[in-house]
Amino acid sequence: MQNRINLELSLSAKEYIQKATQIVIVPHAGPDGDAIGSSLALMRYLKKLGKQVKAICPNAYPEFLTWLHGEEELDVFEKAEEACITYIEESDLIFILDHNSFKRSGDVGKLLEKHTATKIMIDHHPMPEDIADITLSDTAMCSTCEMIYEFIDALDGNNQIDQGIAECLYTGIITDTGGLSYNSSNKRIYQIVGDLMDKGIDKAKVHGKIYDNFSANRMKLLGYCLNEGMELVPEYEAAIIHLTKETLEAFEYQDGDTEGFVNYPLSIKGINISVIFMEKDDSVKISFRSKGDIPINQMARDFFNGGGHINAAGGRTYESLPKAIEKFKKELPAFYKSM
Ligand code: 5GP
Ligand code: MN
Repeated sequence: MQNRINLELSLSAKEYIQKATQIVIVPHAGPDGDAIGSSLALMRYLKKLGKQVKAICPNAYPEFLTWLHGEEELDVFEKAEEACITYIEESDLIFILDHNSFKRSGDVGKLLEKHTATKIMIDHHPMPEDIADITLSDTAMCSTCEMIYEFIDALDGNNQIDQGIAECLYTGIITDTGGLSYNSSNKRIYQIVGDLMDKGIDKAKVHGKIYDNFSANRMKLLGYCLNEGMELVPEYEAAIIHLTKETLEAFEYQDGDTEGFVNYPLSIKGINISVIFMEKDDSVKISFRSKGDIPINQMARDFFNGGGHINAAGGRTYESLPKAIEKFKKELPAFYKSM
């Protein structure tokens, strides 16, 4: 089967890589398995080519991703701002991974926006902004990790993908598809996974690290989310999870603890929309999920300053938690009728 990445653009990217003296890779803020997996995989590949390269994460990443191969080489902007700023300023090639707008990488995005270095975007979200010199954007790809596999394959053949890179790529592929359950109907992805198996990935280890690695508090927080924290609105096929700052503190919340929680209510018969509202510092972070052809990213875009995929989107508001939930409930009937 054919490699699905744009070959011409990939080969132009290769020329920029060859010319570059210092490279920086930036995933989105609030990075997930795909953002971290794709950044580490690309970084390791570029190091194999002898390049000077760093991956700089805008903020902290979840505990369940810290085991990933090469993780110790991932810099976190919020933890070492000055060093990161200097490194970014001195770089002449920037990779924007798993996002397509400077808004998605916070203060790092503000630096990149002013930067004159060449920018290459590799991303699978809808509506990419025109912010890069080369835009490899494809919503048909299940994950940015799938794109990075194809990208390396197009540039060099898959021999450059070793076991460590393969585990990073596999992590992003399974975390962005719910373990190959959604967004993964193209058979090419199974060929890629087959090849990653050939590279020697330890599938059981990866699954164990990602899914069977909860702290007791994280598991209890999930219990809360599915009990007191959950409100059902069956007439509009929706579930809403509320999480106040106090609740998060009570369960000793760590970054990434709620990752994936929003998917659970979709297992309830008749529930096709699930939303989690979470108080964070001075804002409310919202995650949206839907089934089938319900375009929940429209809701995120139109009312909550966000966006994302048709079935998985996110947003943020600076209104209070009750106000944000009230707004969602107010908009839900019209949204439901328009579906
Ligand atoms: P999550 O709910 O896991 O944070 O995000 C789900 C999807 O929506 C991801 O693909 C993510 O990239 C996208 N997303 C999350 N938050 C935002 C946001 O604030 N703005 C935009 N444009 N997309 C978001
Ligand atoms: Mn992704």
